[in-house]
Amino acid sequence: MAFIITDPCITTKDTACVDVCPVDCIHPRKDEPEFEQSPMLFIHPEECIDCGACVPACPVSAIYDSPDATPASQQDLVDANAKYRAGDAGAFAEVQNIVNAHISAHPELMNIPGTERAAAHQS
Ligand code: SF4
Ligand code: SF4
Repeated sequence: MAFIITDPCITTKDTACVDVCPVDCIHPRKDEPEFEQSPMLFIHPEECIDCGACVPACPVSAIYDSPDATPASQQDLVDANAKYRAGDAGAFAEVQNIVNAHISAHPELMNIPGTERAAAHQS
């Protein structure tokens, strides 16, 4: 059960979680070519060791501790986390489509600042 990054990361994307992850399973990093184009970051589901270090590091509470703990409005992004692979252009395109569809489907979330978005996930 890996940790999941959700939509407060969109527009925030500050990589604070990358700096604390002990196994380098959060991508794209700033030094990876997909970083500029990627709308958010993703956690590799098989590499994550469930240590929890990324959760308090995230300034916008974007990270949930499992797919089951991820709110219904964010379940599409569970798939995005599962599919993203650094260096895989096909997977990146697929993930971008998922995130763009999420943005289109949730104007009520995207229209509020990233810092307040997680609080609105349960409503
Ligand atoms: S829970 Fe730990 S291993 Fe998993 S992404 Fe967060 S910091 Fe990395
Ligand atoms: S710390 Fe939070 S907002 Fe920053 S990149 Fe990681 S998940 Fe995204």
